[in-house]
Amino acid sequence: MIHLINVKSLTAVLVILGVLFLYSFLSYSRTSHQQNITAENRLSADVVAVGNEFHLVAPEHLQYEQPSIVQGSRIDVVAVTPWLAPIVWEGTFNPVLLDSIYKPKNITIIATVFAVGKYIMFLKRFLETAEQHFFVGFKVHIYVFTDRPNEVPPVTMASGRRLIVRLVPTAKRWQEISARRMELIQMVIEEQLPNNRNYIFCLDVDSQFHGRWGSESLGGLVAVTHPGYYRDPRSKFPYERRPSSRAYLAPREGDFYYCGGAFGGLLQEVHHLAKTCRHNFEADAQEGIEAAWQEESHLNRYMWINKPSKVLSPEYLWQDFKPRNPEVHIVRFSGVVKNYADIRPNA
Ligand code: UDP
Ligand code: MN
Repeated sequence: MIHLINVKSLTAVLVILGVLFLYSFLSYSRTSHQQNITAENRLSADVVAVGNEFHLVAPEHLQYEQPSIVQGSRIDVVAVTPWLAPIVWEGTFNPVLLDSIYKPKNITIIATVFAVGKYIMFLKRFLETAEQHFFVGFKVHIYVFTDRPNEVPPVTMASGRRLIVRLVPTAKRWQEISARRMELIQMVIEEQLPNNRNYIFCLDVDSQFHGRWGSESLGGLVAVTHPGYYRDPRSKFPYERRPSSRAYLAPREGDFYYCGGAFGGLLQEVHHLAKTCRHNFEADAQEGIEAAWQEESHLNRYMWINKPSKVLSPEYLWQDFKPRNPEVHIVRFSGVVKNYADIRPNA
């Protein structure tokens, strides 16, 4: 009997010891697993999520001056719209930090540029300066629409950058080019749409880059404030003022006057813009109306209804003949001086 009790208690002791051992083993492995998770969490501060993937940001890019929310680096300009879109001015952003956020996303920047008729003469400078300043280090595809493909200048492009030439008919009136721009932009985007993480900028060819135009300009819908009107009251903006036009803006409407010579954003957003402006432009034309500044007027109407998510300051489209205003610390892109009578088919 005594013997039996001893065997029973021995079994009980062994079972208890086994349970204790198992418990301590499990809690040990849980702790070490937690330690791993903690390590991962700490790591996640240095990680950028791209879809389901994670990419490391180089730690040296995280070494920068502490930002402040009470003391702005620029106090002479407004850096945010009333609908809380950033207004990009030199000094309001950190280019190295922005590049380190956007580079791992492996995006392609598409640029469209029209060089019809004599405007082909502007293409060389446009492409050469784009090489120096426009999204350097990113994948860039530049689409050139021209009726003179043989006159497209040979420009050496860095790896990851491509030039795609598309043939368009010669125009009799310069307004025709303006009319077809939105249509062709819409078509290029439709070819690309499965890659809807990519961005597009639609730029005037009679211009050149002087300074960085990079990842700070990326956004869903991006508009550039016109250098000629950004200090003016809206009553002076050259919006379309006839209510019969689909580009009409009433006297108390309009935020800024935006350029037709530079706009962009995510493919999907710019596709919607191009489609809408083209539709309104063509519907106006059917009724014999041409807006004051063609597609620029339709663009301005569009941006009033669909607020841009990022606004670029006039640094992003200045004019070479215009002296720099004090708030413009850098000219990044600007229209070259040209003689309309010499270059437009019907000026
Ligand atoms: N354009 C063109 N050929 C022309 C007229 C215009 O290729 O004969 C294109 C070109 O890309 C140009 C854009 O349309 O940059 C807008 O025209 P323009 O620059 O003359 O307008 P502005 O900037 O003077 O308002
Ligand atoms: Mn122009």
